[in-house]
Amino acid sequence: MDFKGKVAVVTGGAGGIGRAACVAFARHGARVVVVDREAPGGEETARLAREAGGEARFVRADVTKSAEVRGYVETALDAYGGIHCFFNNAGIEGKLRPTAEYDEEMFDAVVAVNLKGVFLGLRHVLPVMVRQGGGSVVNTASTAGLAGSQGLCAYVASKHGVVGLTRTAASEYGRAGIRVNAVCPGPTDTRMIRSLEEQSAPGGSNSVRERYLSGIPVGRYATPEEIASLVLFLSSDLAGSITGGQYLIDGGRLASPVALG
Ligand code: NAD
Repeated sequence: MDFKGKVAVVTGGAGGIGRAACVAFARHGARVVVVDREAPGGEETARLAREAGGEARFVRADVTKSAEVRGYVETALDAYGGIHCFFNNAGIEGKLRPTAEYDEEMFDAVVAVNLKGVFLGLRHVLPVMVRQGGGSVVNTASTAGLAGSQGLCAYVASKHGVVGLTRTAASEYGRAGIRVNAVCPGPTDTRMIRSLEEQSAPGGSNSVRERYLSGIPVGRYATPEEIASLVLFLSSDLAGSITGGQYLIDGGRLASPVALG
């Protein structure tokens, strides 16, 4: 994979999967714009990406705010002259609560980041790619974009929505040379999974960690670097015929959701 001369914009780049993707893009020659609402983590990612061999800069932005999304797009254009790869990845998990007990404000907050944030990214980046004559978008969905998950109604609804946005944008912009795909990670070793592990799970006495790990055939969480590898492949010219798809990277979790029986 070669991203020399390419510009990659990554939201949620201050940590976890987004950080791993920024470093991987930089290692493969891209100029990287790290976007996040968390400044210290975002600056640190930009530093790590530069160390990995690429150019990188951080833009502080909240993906739920249209003006701030326009701001990171304009920064990318002013600094590097284009956007070839867009990893639309920022997300939050919300709280673990059964649907009937789920807090309305929390529902709105999760949908605002995970679904509206992804929409706003598409809304502002796609016109740039149309003018350029092409590009690649990878949206971060989840196994929760393809199946239910107890206690996570807002997260699941938002990630199913990301799959819908992905399919729709892919069908609308294929002839403009723009590919749009979704990655669907299972539990991945980042701050997000640790936050869920600290909560008590509805509907069972085992810890969240035990329940996740018992359902993953490979017996471990994915690493952020493993997710980043899939993102880079989908963003690269090697994936020129791949668009509109949802790519599971879950250690086999959805292959057999029921362990026995
Ligand atoms: P993470 O918490 O380390 O990273 C999420 C990043 O998004 C953080 O840096 C956070 O500051 C940023 N962010 C949150 N809200 C934002 C906003 N409004 N504006 C700008 N930035 C914002 O967790 P992660 O696991 O790296 O998550 C990355 C993506 O992967 C998310 O979309 C998440 O839903 C998805 N995902 C994670 C897992 C997992 O198990 N970790 C599994 C499936 C999907």
